Amino acid sequence: MAGKLNLNGIGMTSQRTRERLLGRLIEQGITNMEVLDVMRSTPRHIFLDEALSHRAYEDVALPIGHNQTISQPFIVARMTEAIVDSGPLEKVLEIGTGCGYQTAVIAQLADTVYTVERIKPLLARARKNLKLLGLRNVEYKHDDGSLGWEDKGIFDAIITTAAPQQVPAELLAQLKEGGRLVIPVGGEGGQELRLITRTADDFTTEVLNLVRFVPLLVGQVQN
Ligand code: SAH
Repeated sequence: MAGKLNLNGIGMTSQRTRERLLGRLIEQGITNMEVLDVMRSTPRHIFLDEALSHRAYEDVALPIGHNQTISQPFIVARMTEAIVDSGPLEKVLEIGTGCGYQTAVIAQLADTVYTVERIKPLLARARKNLKLLGLRNVEYKHDDGSLGWEDKGIFDAIITTAAPQQVPAELLAQLKEGGRLVIPVGGEGGQELRLITRTADDFTTEVLNLVRFVPLLVGQVQN
């Protein structure tokens, strides 16, 4: 038993509602079975406040406080699929931990996840959520992640869940050859979700989707 929380969920968080979400992911083009399995088994309701947990299995972003959101499941699956398809993942860097939902998904598919969040209480909440799920292969850092996490690099993949106006050069520099960076780029009105791959002497870019993430901000906040 995991304390007072019900990991399986009741009512709107029941297995049936979760299967419906999975159907939506498949309809929208997610095909990687490993990713679909992890999306199926990761309880999204534990990442939300109780008042919103009945909406946990809707395919929408939802507020988590501090003016931030939990990502839409389809986008989490899309970003994860984009990095998993490149082969085995030893080290993955995530910028923008938020409540830790995307972190939890990647942690089940990579050896180690390094995650950076600029809002301290959100990082604490993510840590608690992942502990509850028994996910221990995650290292957390409270910092401005636009500079990446150089000491821990270089990475097989980097996922950024907040949008800069331009791709930070530091993130590109921390990618392995063959490594992938998935990042929304643009203003608050909407962004391109880009998949950038490091080749032997250059980078290639593909646009995956049009998305709307919160902006990647500079500096860190304590509360
Ligand atoms: N990954 C989350 C979504 C988080 S929303 C999920 O799965 O639901 C984006 C997060 O990026 C917010 O928590 C925001 O505080 C954080 N963020 C914004 N700018 C940042 C920066 N420069 N460094 C680290 N985190 C940042």
